[in-house]
Amino acid sequence: MKGLIFSVKRYSVHDGPGIRVTFFMKGCPLSCWWCHNPEGISPEPEKVVQKNKIGEKEFSIVEDAGKLFSVDEILGILEKERAFITHSKGGVTFSGGEPMLQCEFLIEALKACKDAGYHTAVDTSGYSSTENYRSVIPFTDLFLFDIKHIDDTMHLKYTGVSNFLILENLLLLLHSPGDVIIRIPVIPGVNDDSGSMNDIRQLLINFKTDNLKKINLLPYHKTGSSKYNKFNIPYRMGSIEPPSKGRIQELKEFFCEVGVKVKIGG
Ligand code: SF4
Repeated sequence: MKGLIFSVKRYSVHDGPGIRVTFFMKGCPLSCWWCHNPEGISPEPEKVVQKNKIGEKEFSIVEDAGKLFSVDEILGILEKERAFITHSKGGVTFSGGEPMLQCEFLIEALKACKDAGYHTAVDTSGYSSTENYRSVIPFTDLFLFDIKHIDDTMHLKYTGVSNFLILENLLLLLHSPGDVIIRIPVIPGVNDDSGSMNDIRQLLINFKTDNLKKINLLPYHKTGSSKYNKFNIPYRMGSIEPPSKGRIQELKEFFCEVGVKVKIGG
């Protein structure tokens, strides 16, 4: 069996503890307006045409977004970085896209990585069947779990899906073996208002178990916007600007009441 992966990031320090290798798996059932990895949304391999200009001369480069990897290839990549991973108490992270969309492959890969002694993490939107999460839990040391909005109408509008299943899965993970880090993208005009943030904080206070280790606040940034041109997808965030440092600092203090560490960034 092989998994479709659109990017491999070595020496990653934002996707779990220590130095990690992050595999970005292709395909996502959500379509968040602010997604930084639009090349990860389609579950099919794609060709990306990148237009470049040197002086007056224009030229195009065609890149592949999505390549099949076997579990052995993943282990081979990890093996080359084992010294850094071990020394830093790092590991491997499966991100996306939504890695749970390729659940069978993910289980095989996680199991093999754990057998080889690596700390394993899954970075997920929470949107997959509860049965899928039950299958992945035994091989996952850490879930990086996104919460975007508690109001279901807003969630549907800005991500394309309801949040009912996501919140149900969060509850499951918080009551199962394995650590959970909550990631909250802070998106001006979408969820950065006091009411929306208060709803998220209250949910975390109500849901909290010993598994909840940390909250990461991820300020919206525009770095993914240029990719939308490459894919001919309209960028729906328009002229929305990143949140101010002051607002993010305020939110950091606001979330401290949950009673776990709060960090700005991944
Ligand atoms: S869940 Fe993540 S990968 Fe999927 S569309 Fe949203 S931001 Fe992009």
